[in-house]
Amino acid sequence: MSVLELAGAGKEYAGGVVALRDVDLTIGAGEDLAIVGPSGSGKSTLLHLMGTLDRPTTGKVHIAGEDATALGDDALSRLRSRWLGFVFQQSYLADRLTAVENVAVGLLYAATPRRHRRRRAEDALDRVGLGHRRDHLPHQLSGGERQRVGIARALVNQPALVLADEPTGALDQDTGRQVLALFRDLHAQGTTIALITHDPIVADTFSRRVEIRDGRITP
Ligand code: ADP
Ligand code: ADP
Repeated sequence: MSVLELAGAGKEYAGGVVALRDVDLTIGAGEDLAIVGPSGSGKSTLLHLMGTLDRPTTGKVHIAGEDATALGDDALSRLRSRWLGFVFQQSYLADRLTAVENVAVGLLYAATPRRHRRRRAEDALDRVGLGHRRDHLPHQLSGGERQRVGIARALVNQPALVLADEPTGALDQDTGRQVLALFRDLHAQGTTIALITHDPIVADTFSRRVEIRDGRITP
């Protein structure tokens, strides 16, 4: 069964901008996919549809076999938090929470009993190589470390698919490379990843690439 399937998905924003047209895309368990395209081509719109953060104006989105377009908002949030993890350009950590507490935020909507949450968050921090920083606040971490905390928060619920939107976009080149290497390690350990980038060099490090131009996937 596919983890995610878009069928004829399109998006027209209020005001008439058609950002995405007729996108067919299937992601299977274990894949690592880069979605590449220039600025304004529709990448973020696509990620929002894939992540059920926004609804398509045409077509369907299936997550783990379930038709997300048929669900109401509450059921959709449950589907999203059960199957998907998100990483963005900014890590969006809470300033006053430690690294491990920020990671545990990823379990807020999960069925994990409270007493297991810290352990699960610690395990996720270990997976991104930050076990030794668990009690640091965000301002005590470097930019790359903050992004890794954000990645641990995306992983803590053991999502079927991690969606990453320009996760190295705010980092310097070396730190960006380290974060990409982390994604490669996570993929090697079985995490399914779809990553959006405008950078063809970043895209080249993924096994499968999909290119988007003017809101369409190029053949
Ligand atoms: P990318 O991520 O590749 O830069 P986007 O998906 O952000 O592309 O944008 C695709 C197109 O949709 C652009 O023309 C952009 O201006 C337009 N767009 C994006 N978001 C909105 C919105 N909320 N309302 C109207 N137009 C939008
Ligand atoms: P980089 O140059 O790689 O972005 P920094 O110079 O910001 O990294 O930090 C180097 C190391 O020192 C990091 O591992 C970070 O966690 C640690 N560090 C930075 N600032 C503080 C602080 N105020 N308190 C504790 N540790 C810190």
